[in-house]
Amino acid sequence: MADDRIQKRIAVLGATGSIGTQTLSVADSLGTPTDVLTAGSRDREFEAICRKYSPRIAAMADESAARRLKTALADTDIKVYGGSEGVAAAAGEADADCAVVAISGMAASEPMMNAARCCRRICMANKEAIVAAGGHLLAAIKAGGAELIPVDSEHSAIFQSLTAGRRGDVLKLILTASGGPFYGKKRCELEKLTAADALAHPTWSMGPKITVDSATLMNKGFEVIEAMHLFSVPPEKIEVVVHRESIIHSMVEFRDHAIIAQLGLPDMRTAIQYAITYPTREDGCAGSVDWGTLSRLTFGKPDTESFPLLALAYEAARRGGTCPAVMSAADEVAVGAFLRGEIGFTDIFDIVESAVDRVGRPGEADLCEIVAADGEARVRAGEMCRGR
Ligand code: NAD
Ligand code: MG
Repeated sequence: MADDRIQKRIAVLGATGSIGTQTLSVADSLGTPTDVLTAGSRDREFEAICRKYSPRIAAMADESAARRLKTALADTDIKVYGGSEGVAAAAGEADADCAVVAISGMAASEPMMNAARCCRRICMANKEAIVAAGGHLLAAIKAGGAELIPVDSEHSAIFQSLTAGRRGDVLKLILTASGGPFYGKKRCELEKLTAADALAHPTWSMGPKITVDSATLMNKGFEVIEAMHLFSVPPEKIEVVVHRESIIHSMVEFRDHAIIAQLGLPDMRTAIQYAITYPTREDGCAGSVDWGTLSRLTFGKPDTESFPLLALAYEAARRGGTCPAVMSAADEVAVGAFLRGEIGFTDIFDIVESAVDRVGRPGEADLCEIVAADGEARVRAGEMCRGR
């Protein structure tokens, strides 16, 4: 086991984010060296990370941040690349067993496809690119020769639960949802809520965009589409159950109605570590569930009337084409505007629904059409945000 650990090297794409920094803490605990690290724009923070982990290559999407980083790291052997092409090139030059894809948004697409050609495994945290263009990206990863292991906690739970039976015997996938901080509220109560309210997630500690997506249930909608692509299951075989305690991370029901679940404390490091060490298991970073203090596990149906984006995601999954990409892009713009205090919480619902109706095209779509629809949705969503 020790030899296996020493041989593994990782690339962390999106090393300064919530998943990226938790991946580095898992790497610390496993004693895994890093080969490539990438980040978006925060060069001071990234410099400290590079000094601590001494990657062979470091890349930043922001060109001027990359220039500052290059000067700051002049006393080291670290090669520094800049711009989106630099991030994609760094991913494509990784000499690593695993690439953890923790870049948020569509920007993850090219780096993840490049990493799939040089890394044995893609540990996939990114969801927006998978929602928008899952079929194409998964095919490209497969063609690149890499295996894909999910990092999102629900999908990691399903991946683990699926080992209990044959794929052909799966009846349905059951995704659990915490319900977010506004669970139980009616639509009229949601109107006055602020970014600070939305950022107070009851169980998970995550980046701001995904935390707001959890509050709107958009995140669960994305996860339905993510599950559809990752496990080749149609949306009607994916059920969402509200489970406030976030102890059951998701489940698989087989044809004999046996349900297999994966449980644990809500800590992303468990799923990140499993994606890196699979099929072996190593000592975990999260604690054990304390069955003495955990008095009950509760379950309920999601309220899709007050939180319409979950139902919209099912509809976008059924329509296909560019609809999921438009939904994801419009959501990214609307959530950004909400976090800056420019629009209200329920405006996010209206803007995303309207963008899917006006810009989304059902049926089949190639990658170029998806990228074009993503751009158009951003423009339309931006206009709608300014019109509020
Ligand atoms: P984050 O915003 O905290 O971090 C994003 C990372 O990507 C940062 O390192 C940032 O510098 C980098 N980045 C952003 N834009 C970039 C660009 N254009 N080019 C290159 N790098 C760029 O986000 P996060 O919460 O860590 O989430 C990362 C991804 O994982 C998202 O797709 C999210 O949906 C998914 N995810 C997150 C969690 C979680 O617990 N945070 C759980 C499941 C899935
Ligand atoms: Mg999740």
